[in-house]
Amino acid sequence: MWRRFLCILCFSFWLPSTWVHAKEIALTFDDAPRASSQCLDAATRSQLLIQQLQQAAGVPAMFMVTTNNIAKQGNQALKAYVQAGHLLGNHSHSHQHPETLGLDGYLADVRQSHEQLLAWAAYRPYYRFPFLNEGRTIAMRDGLRKGLSEIGLTQAYVTIDNYDWYIDQQLQNALQQQQAVDIQALGDWYVEEMMKSIRFYDDIAVKHIGRSPKHVLLLHENDVAALFLGDLIKALTAEGWRLISPIEAYQDPIASGLPDTLFNNQGRVAALARLQGVKKRDLVPLNEEESYLDEKFKRRVLKHGSDANNEALITRCRALQPR
Ligand SMILES: [Zn+2]
Repeated sequence: MWRRFLCILCFSFWLPSTWVHAKEIALTFDDAPRASSQCLDAATRSQLLIQQLQQAAGVPAMFMVTTNNIAKQGNQALKAYVQAGHLLGNHSHSHQHPETLGLDGYLADVRQSHEQLLAWAAYRPYYRFPFLNEGRTIAMRDGLRKGLSEIGLTQAYVTIDNYDWYIDQQLQNALQQQQAVDIQALGDWYVEEMMKSIRFYDDIAVKHIGRSPKHVLLLHENDVAALFLGDLIKALTAEGWRLISPIEAYQDPIASGLPDTLFNNQGRVAALARLQGVKKRDLVPLNEEESYLDEKFKRRVLKHGSDANNEALITRCRALQPR
């Protein structure tokens, strides 16, 4: 009897705990297919991403395509992702703000990318707003929501915003300026900051939504992801996270219904917390401040006192294989 009682006790604690702290996360990569950089040519970058995504053991990632990039870069990288079992989503044709194009112009741009992407069997009609800008007025936001729905698109929201794009830009700037970069330190720091963002938004979810939803991580198809994604996946696994498909993530209850707020550019968890009265400043992590990232990059990643050798660094960068 005691054993049965203990089991009931154990079950009643175990179930809510796994639900509250589910730790499930999907990977999405914006802006594909991006151009070659000083560090990685586009083909190497996509191969590195694919190799490291193999750690996800059959769980697909979603590459959010900006179709104007296909005109510039070709579709080789996208073909490689699809062949490796990954999915494609929509990230507009020309990657602009709604306020720049106006409502009708913006929706025409989205329709153009949607029609182009329909030719790909791996395309799933999910739309990721560039800059996570869902419209800065209620009229624009609601016009976009209605227009996307008429096109047949569902919002590909993120739950975990971060500044991975800025860290990549810091790397590119350092290479450009012939500054010596400690690539190992960059990898360690990148993973550290990404994990901070993941914990930050998961904590907000548990506190204000009452549970850890199926998360969607914002990443970009950039060099830092290509170089260090394997390390990031290892860090996630070590903290008990399980990778899931973005399609599964978008089945979470937080996907049903669009938050009645204009505070959408930090992702869905932040938007829902904002609706509960949480202050905006408490929904943006410190590592989205450029001054913070600049100071960290300078202190941890730049090699002071060493001779900057751009060529040697770039050669090393290109020769890097997933760790
Ligand atoms: Zn983008």
